[in-house]
Formats: sequence, structure tokens, C-alpha cells
Amino acid sequence: MEITGVGIGRGVAVGPVIRMAAALPEPADTPRSESVPAEVEIKRAAGALAVVNADLRKRAEEAANGDEGAKKAAPILQAISMFASDPSLAQNIANLITGGKTAERAVLEGFAAVEAMFKALGGYQAERAADLHDVGQRVIADLMGVPAPGVPYSETPFVLVAEDLSPADTATLDLSKTLAIVTSQGGPTSHTAILARARGIVAVVSAAGADDLTDGESVIVNAANGTITTKPTDAQIAAAEQAKAKAAKAKELRGKPGAFKDGAHIPLLANVGKPADAEPALEYGAEGVGLFRTEFLFLGNAEPPSVEEQTEAYAELLGRFPGKKVVIRLLDAGADKPLPFLTPEDEPNPALGLRGLRTLRVHKDVIEGQLKALAAADAKTEADLWVMAPMVADEREAAYFVKLGKSFGLKKVGVMAEVPSIALMADKVAQVADFVSIGTNDLTQYTLAADRTLGSVANYQTAWHPAVLRAIKLIADAGNKYGMPVGVCGEAAADPDLAVVLAGLGVNSLSMTPVALDDVRAELAEWTLEDAREKADKALDGDFYHLDWED
Ligand code: PEP
Ligand code: MG
Repeated sequence: MEITGVGIGRGVAVGPVIRMAAALPEPADTPRSESVPAEVEIKRAAGALAVVNADLRKRAEEAANGDEGAKKAAPILQAISMFASDPSLAQNIANLITGGKTAERAVLEGFAAVEAMFKALGGYQAERAADLHDVGQRVIADLMGVPAPGVPYSETPFVLVAEDLSPADTATLDLSKTLAIVTSQGGPTSHTAILARARGIVAVVSAAGADDLTDGESVIVNAANGTITTKPTDAQIAAAEQAKAKAAKAKELRGKPGAFKDGAHIPLLANVGKPADAEPALEYGAEGVGLFRTEFLFLGNAEPPSVEEQTEAYAELLGRFPGKKVVIRLLDAGADKPLPFLTPEDEPNPALGLRGLRTLRVHKDVIEGQLKALAAADAKTEADLWVMAPMVADEREAAYFVKLGKSFGLKKVGVMAEVPSIALMADKVAQVADFVSIGTNDLTQYTLAADRTLGSVANYQTAWHPAVLRAIKLIADAGNKYGMPVGVCGEAAADPDLAVVLAGLGVNSLSMTPVALDDVRAELAEWTLEDAREKADKALDGDFYHLDWED
């Protein structure tokens, strides 16, 4: 059976479940005995608050001296310790005691009132309510003289299952024993998720079905799919163990440049859709940006953004990659990315209509505004800016765009190869463009005459098709002959096996969604460039392509 939730990271773990200890019993709401004076009870509550505050501060200190992940937990622990020293909360608790409550009950109600307030605020604040609840429970446990609720102890490694974990629990988890964390609550921005990510713990959060998991049962936790498999078969366990070994190895290489076993360098770059995507790109060790789709600036707007607005956005991205290559693509309006103010509404076949450079040529103000903003952003930053146009059909269009780009002072101006015609003219294109980046999504669509947005022809959407690979080879060969760099920035580059073949075809760099970087880097490292060339030869012959018509 499979339980689904939100996976954090891409790790896989296999092991027995241990559930987090049950929560403390709720302190009864019976009036305090008259023989216990309010001042004594208030003192007792204040004492417990102080103990918990000191304990959390101590844990924060220990975390600050711990490993990298624990270090990140230190400020969080420090922050939540302050809930236990909040004077207004202490005063509320004292008032409740004066009103006749026991210290335990007063602490419960005092914290609950603040928790409710946090929850009502929603979003990030609502997720902090769990931290507050945890601190309250610790105070009550101290008052009751029982151990604070927390992570269970086990001699052997286990998958920890809980409703949610407190930051203190997550921060102090013994990583040698914790195979994975599964929670039924908590979103992807809960502390459990943040700290699991920071400490590299395999985790699936928000998995409602996890409440049914029982102690001792064996599960597979797959963060990449956000699943927990119960009663796994031997074959499923074997596959998970293999995935685990591969993922661990892949992660070890993060931060290293993309390279074959024999050292041949294939830079691995990131595809990004907005400046904030620089974060995951850098986290996964991208060596630069291979495709920045600028559509985000235009989509949803009634008119193009101003040059100043654009300059700011481009500079924001470029500023994150000093000294590194950043390829920015001009607006690709039309077809699957229509823009009301640029794209005609009455095209019967939009994919064959005005899109990419064709649209820009009709709207010169848009292309010139973008080029102006790019040159301004380039002047302000230290990145190595490359600029390219989408949907370029041949060497004449390439020459048109290169000349225009250079007239704005841009240093590296290239084109995307997305239409088969450009592959057929590649030797001429290589003599006019500074570089070519192959968009395999569109190149596949146009080579196989199969609309990339249509489910009925989705089986044609694979760059493994030898016709697509042959088109890529034409471009790579021309690039290598004339010393013009050729990269791939379509989805094909994110498929580790296909990435090896692309490099074997002579492509010089690969750009992909950041989460794919680890696996592609690891796969390249398994082979030599010569192996890749052999695979590429087979792929060109169609050895790895199976059309479902054959069945
Ligand atoms: C492509 O076509 O492969 C590509 C990268 O461009 P987009 O997916 O934005 O059309
Ligand atoms: Mg495209």
C-alpha cells in the first residue's frame, strides 16, 4: 500500500517504524485545592517555565557547536526558548492561577490562547503554533514530573513517524539512528521540513495516512515521490536500496563540476524561470544558468514591463552568479506561451505561427527594450552574460539577431535551435552565431510534427527518437567544426541516460531544472567520453528508442 505526502529532498530510506511517544494527558480542568495558595502555584509555574527556557537555550548552544545542519537549528531553538520567558504569557498564566486553575491547567490554557492567535494569522505564523505547543507541553511535563515528550530511543535505526516534530526534536535527532522522518501534519515550510532539508534527512511530511502506521512495520520512504510504501515486496526493497545507494553517491558529487570519469568537463547549468530560482540552482551546484526564461516578466501583464523593471530583474539574477555563465533568453511569446498584447488570436496552428523571434521581429519595441535592459544589467554586474533568441529558423535570422544584440553592446549573442531547419543549416549558423542552445522540447515537437501540448501524440515527445538525435548531431558537429559552443537546455538534458548520449554527440554543456543536477552529474561520472560516444552512435541508430507501434 502507498501513503502519499510531500517529499522533502529526493532521498530514499527503508526500515522499521517507531512512532513518537503519545502526547501528555491533558491536565484536568478541576479547581485548584484551597490548601494550595495561588502564590505557591504561580512560583511553581514560573519555575517550570525557567527550566524549559534554560533547557532549550542549552540545546541551542549544543546545536551551535554541532554539525552544519545542527548549526542551522541553533537560532530556531534560541527563538522558541523565548516563548518560555515571555513576560506577558507568564502573566496570563499567573492570572489563570489566581482565578482558581492549577499550574498545569493554567500553562495549557495560557499557551493555547497564544497558539490560537498564531493559527488565526495563517501561513508561516500558523506553522509556528506547533513550536509554541511544544514549549507548553515541555512546561507541563516539568510540572508533572514526567519526561518531556520527544523522540523515542532505539538501539537500531528506525523511521520516525509522528504527527509533527518540534524544532527541538528535529534539531537533536541522532542521525545515525534516524533513517527518515514521516509526519502526518506540517507543511513543506514547517520546521520539520526546513530542518530535515538542512540536515539532509529523508522526509515526507503532510502524509495524512501516516497516522495508521504502527511500531515495527517495515516501510520504504521515498522523498522524491513523496510516498511511504507499506508491506513492501522484496523487489520493491531491492529497488529502494539501489535508489538509496545511487542518491547518496549522487549527492556526494554536489559542488563538483560536471565531468566524465576520464575528466572531460561538461558544465552543468540550471534552467530558471525567475530570479529567485537562483537559490535552488546554487544549492544543487549549478555551474551557471543555461536558460533563463524571461516570460515571467511579461505573462499576466497587459503590456511589456518597462526597461527599468526588466533591468532590475535581470541584474538580480546576474548578481547571484559573479564570474559565471548566465544565458538569458529573450521573450518566447506565442504558441504554448501566448501573450495577449503580442500574439494574434486567430492563428489556426499557433505552434506554426508567430512565436519567438518571429513575434519579436514584428514588435521591435519589445526586442529592443529587452536588449537595452540586458545591456544595462550586464554593465552593473559581474556575471558572464550570454543572450539568445528563441525559435530561430536559419542563419539569416541568426545573423539578424546577432547583429542587433551586438549593436546594444552585448558580448555573446546566440540562438536557440528548436526548429529542424536550423539543424539543416547548422554549418552556416555556426559561422554567424556566438553559440547555439538546443531546445529539445520544441525541436522534438517540430521534428516529429507532434504538438507538445497534446496528450494524444505525447508518445512522440521523446528526444530519444533518432531523428531528433540526428538533428542534434548536425548542430554539435557544426559547432565543434567552427569552435562554436553548443548546449542543450530542453528537458532531455535532465534525463541522466540521455544526458550522457547528448554529451557523446558532441554537445558542450547541459542545462536543466536544478533538482536534476545531482543525478545527471552522477551518471556522467560513471562513463568515459569514449563510452558516451559509443552510446551516442547506438542511439543515432535507434537502439534505445522503442516506438509503441511495434507492439
Ligand atoms: C525547449 O523548447 O526545449 C525550451 C527549452 O524552450 P521552452 O520549453 O521554453 O519552449
Ligand atoms: Mg522552446
